[in-house]
Amino acid sequence: MTIDKWLTWAVAGLLTLSLAQGAWAKPYTAAATVGMIADIVREVAGDHAKVEGIIGEGVDPHLYKPTRNDVITLSTADIVFYNGLMLEGKMGDVLVAVARKGKPVYAVTEAILDQGDYVMTDEAQHYDPHVWMDVQGWIKAVAVVVDALAELDPEHADEYQARAEAYAAELQKLDAYAREAIGSIPERQRVLVTAHDAFNYMGRAYGLDVRGIQGLSTESEAGVKDIEDLVSFLVEHQIPAVFVETSVADKNVRALVEGAKARGHDVVIGGELFSDAMGKPGTYEGTYIGMVDHNVTTITRALGGQVPQGGFGPSDYVVKTGDTLTSISNSLGITVAALKEANDLDDDRISVGQTLHIPRL
Ligand SMILES: [Zn+2]
Repeated sequence: MTIDKWLTWAVAGLLTLSLAQGAWAKPYTAAATVGMIADIVREVAGDHAKVEGIIGEGVDPHLYKPTRNDVITLSTADIVFYNGLMLEGKMGDVLVAVARKGKPVYAVTEAILDQGDYVMTDEAQHYDPHVWMDVQGWIKAVAVVVDALAELDPEHADEYQARAEAYAAELQKLDAYAREAIGSIPERQRVLVTAHDAFNYMGRAYGLDVRGIQGLSTESEAGVKDIEDLVSFLVEHQIPAVFVETSVADKNVRALVEGAKARGHDVVIGGELFSDAMGKPGTYEGTYIGMVDHNVTTITRALGGQVPQGGFGPSDYVVKTGDTLTSISNSLGITVAALKEANDLDDDRISVGQTLHIPRL
C-alpha cells in the first residue's frame, strides 16, 4: 500500500472510533503540529484536554514529513490545531484528509488572514507563516484556540475564556518586555541576521531590520550570491553578531562569519535562537514565553542592548500554600533539579513564604 492510500484508509478507519461524543466525561485529546500551538492549547484547556504535540524540539516544520504515528495521533484526536500559511508544507494532505472527515481542524494563523494586512508576504507574495514571532500576533492565535475549544466543549467555555485572558495578559507583559529590550539596542545595530527568514514579524513589531540567508521556507537553498551580499552588508554596517537557529543547520551562518572575517570584520555568532521550534519539553525554553524571552534576551545582549539578568522571567518566586517543588517547577517550566541547585536545597522541603530564586536564562 502506498503511504497516500494508507493515509486515507487510516484516517477513515480511525475517525469512526473517535467522532462525536457529546459532553466530555474525561479529558479530550487535542493535537497540535508545532510546540508553540500546543503550548497555547495547554494554557487555555488546562486539565480538560490531553495535548499531543507532533513536531518536536529542534525539528524544522517546513521540511517535516508526518510519520504513521502522527497520522494516528491526528486521526484519533478530538480536535486538531496547526499553524497554516504553508508552515507545515508536507503535512497538508493529512490535515485536509482529517478535516474532510468532519473533525474540527483549525489553522490558527489562517484565521487571522482577514484581519486587515496583518499577515506579511515576501516579494513573490508567499504568505509568511512565522506569526508567533510577534507576541501580538500570537495573542490573535490564542483567540482562535479559545473559540475552538469553547465550541468543542461549551460546558467549560467560561473557564477557557478566563484562562485565555490570564494567558493573554502574561503575553502582553512579554510583548512590552520585548519592545523595551530591543529598543535598548543602539539604533544602527538593530539588525538581525539569521539562517532563514523566520523573524519578519518580530522585526516589524519591535523595530529590527531582519535578514535571513534562506527565504521564508527552508526548502529553497541559499545561493553563493545571497551569502556574498549579506557578508558585504555585515562589513559595511559593522554588525557585531549573527545568529543560528535550533531547527536549521548552521553552515550558512558560519559561512557569513568566515566571509566577514576574510574581509577584516569580526562578527560573532550571538547565540542560538528558537525560530520554528521551541526548546526541550519541561524546560523554560520549551514554553512559548520562554522561547520568546530567550530570543529577545539573546538578541539584545549580542547586539549591545540592555536587559535585566534573568531576562523577562521573574527571578524570584514566593512559595504559596500547597506548593511543592514539583508543582512550582511544572508551572514555571524548569526542572526540580535546576530549582534545587539554584537554591542550595538538599531535599524537597520548602516552606510557605520562602523566596526561591528561579534560574531561567
Ligand atoms: Zn520557518
